Amino acid sequence: MRHLFPMSIATTASQTGCAAHDFDPKGKFIGKGGQGHVYKVTCRSCCGLFARKDITLDLNEEKENLERRVRHMKDEIQTLKTLHHPHVIRYVHSMLQPGTGSVSTLQIFTEFCDGGDVDTLINEGEYVFQSLRRRTLR
Ligand SMILES: [Zn+2]
Repeated sequence: MRHLFPMSIATTASQTGCAAHDFDPKGKFIGKGGQGHVYKVTCRSCCGLFARKDITLDLNEEKENLERRVRHMKDEIQTLKTLHHPHVIRYVHSMLQPGTGSVSTLQIFTEFCDGGDVDTLINEGEYVFQSLRRRTLR
């Protein structure tokens, strides 16, 4: 998994100053996004609210399929990192959580948006991201 997802990309310094160990590891499940489940988590150091997207990666998955998904996630992280747009949640942090056997979980932390319906926000986020992706890949 490490060679597919270099730690230099998966583990970046938090852009809010919150350390990775500050985030409550459990969190509250708030919805299902395009690629994974989304949780609301609290930072135990600054008490801020954040959203965490858990994406499960299985090494036993078909190689091409897995590599395509990893590429997509790297793109998503890179895009979120450079994006400063009022309607797009801000990227905070990401890390690869080793699991049991061949399964690892990529966790992407972003700002948590409190306004509106959570499902709509998640879907809008996915939509905004997909349109940005189309634009940058052109
Ligand atoms: Zn914090």
